[in-house]
Amino acid sequence: MKRRQIGLFFGSFNPVHTGHMILANYMATQTSLDEVWMVVSPQNPFKKPGSLARDHDRLHLVELAIGDTPGLRASRIEFDLPKPSYTIDTLAVLRDKHREYDFSLIMGSDNLASLPKWKNADIILRDYRIHVYRRPEYPGGELSTHPGVTVYDAPLMHLSATYIRNCIRDGRSIRYLVPEAVAEELDKSGLYRT
Ligand code: ATP
Repeated sequence: MKRRQIGLFFGSFNPVHTGHMILANYMATQTSLDEVWMVVSPQNPFKKPGSLARDHDRLHLVELAIGDTPGLRASRIEFDLPKPSYTIDTLAVLRDKHREYDFSLIMGSDNLASLPKWKNADIILRDYRIHVYRRPEYPGGELSTHPGVTVYDAPLMHLSATYIRNCIRDGRSIRYLVPEAVAEELDKSGLYRT
């Protein structure tokens, strides 16, 4: 039987927005992946939290964004790992915990260009497939032609979590920029308002 293919989409999701969800859904439905897990990065204890919301609040927003969307799942796996977490270590833990699945990575071409600097980049490239969405302003570098890398032209939204946070801080509307359930929760909780 074919093993279930899981793509990991890492992010701080501070907060999750429609740009993330378009990508996650594209990867879960238009590629060979069966599922996309949105892995919420925990706070790094060596960094000032700044405007980073608490781990559980960001996770909750990702869960609300996903709702009952088929093929998407929120993961809190890194909350319980030594911090800061390195992708190679998270991959090893997931592989060990879910031996019935094949894990791969999802990233933008901007991140692909810097992958050679990651911890154990050679092992990541040897052992895991990488699904890359093209960001027109970032060519992705020589790894774009690596046999383990597949590049997709996914629909992109020009949007960042920073922009969402600024809107909330300034009292501007975030309707359609985040899923409706996320907008409601942000409104109710007052997160990012100050
Ligand atoms: P911030 O503005 O706080 O830096 P962000 O919107 O870039 O946040 P992250 O949580 O860092 O959000 O994003 C998680 C992943 O999603 C990253 O790999 C990032 O490159 C990617 N990403 C962010 N925004 C978009 C977007 N609009 N379209 C596609 N990918 C995105």
